[in-house]
Amino acid sequence: MLFQNRSNAITFNNFLSGTPARDYIMQDTPYAEQIARAVNMIKAADYVLLGAGAGMSTAAGAQYGGKFFEERFGEFQKIYGKGPYMRDMYYAGFYPFPDQESKWGFWCRLALTAGADLDVTPLHRTLLSAFEGKKLFLLSTNADRQFEKAGLPTEQIFATQGDYDHIQCKRGCHPKTYNAVERFREMDAARRDGRIPGEMVPKCPVCGGDMAMNLRVDDHFVEDATWHEAERRFGAFLSEAQDKKLVLVELGVGFNTPTIIRFPFEKLAREHENISLVRLNVGEGAAVPASLGERAVGIDADMAKSITDIVSGVRA
Ligand SMILES: [Zn+2]
Repeated sequence: MLFQNRSNAITFNNFLSGTPARDYIMQDTPYAEQIARAVNMIKAADYVLLGAGAGMSTAAGAQYGGKFFEERFGEFQKIYGKGPYMRDMYYAGFYPFPDQESKWGFWCRLALTAGADLDVTPLHRTLLSAFEGKKLFLLSTNADRQFEKAGLPTEQIFATQGDYDHIQCKRGCHPKTYNAVERFREMDAARRDGRIPGEMVPKCPVCGGDMAMNLRVDDHFVEDATWHEAERRFGAFLSEAQDKKLVLVELGVGFNTPTIIRFPFEKLAREHENISLVRLNVGEGAAVPASLGERAVGIDADMAKSITDIVSGVRA
């Protein structure tokens, strides 16, 4: 663990110590007024910390189930049945595949579909256009790299949960990750009856064991040098910004992993009167702590619309 030192430096670990608010309220002012408040908060800020969760990708058009899934994963539904798993990309990821050939036969398709081949960047680009001239950093739990594809420099991104492009030793025996996109394409092309040839199954170059996606699903998640460098940059940004005019813009962060973005954002705003919070979500996820008063606005609306409206207001 890292400890907060006497200077105001923030590390990722002490950032994470937020606790849930107990005074959530939904906004009852008209939508246009909420947008205007968000616009003013952004205009007044010199620093912007974006926090993106799954709702951002969904709002931008990413699809996971239904017809989209059937068109791209129909061959796996034929082999394994639809059951509780083969209905969307999220649940299918939990299927207990019988062997490594089958596992990677499926996962190469999932990784490419949800990662390298996903293109829902227009809304991400629109959003980024609101922050020209401001110091900007993104904290994200999304593994789809869409902000990066939309042009946000890698140096300004900390994606804490990994991504769909990299693999690691399943046991995490050494702190390295490996870009596997080209490998995934070869596997995807070579698959027969759901399985890839045995010689294509990736093996750990250190211990010889099985490999896994570099996604945080258990305690073996590998935080490699790139991850730690991003963590360091995030801490440096926040240490610099926390006493300045900083706005936190939270995008589609629900209650799935609220301890990474949602609760820490609330804590930051609670402890610093110079920090404001714009929370965009659909439904109860849009609630904000009442104690933040005028410094927080939570907008419960289709985010493709609320983002577009905010950006128009900021750029007007
Ligand atoms: Zn290993």
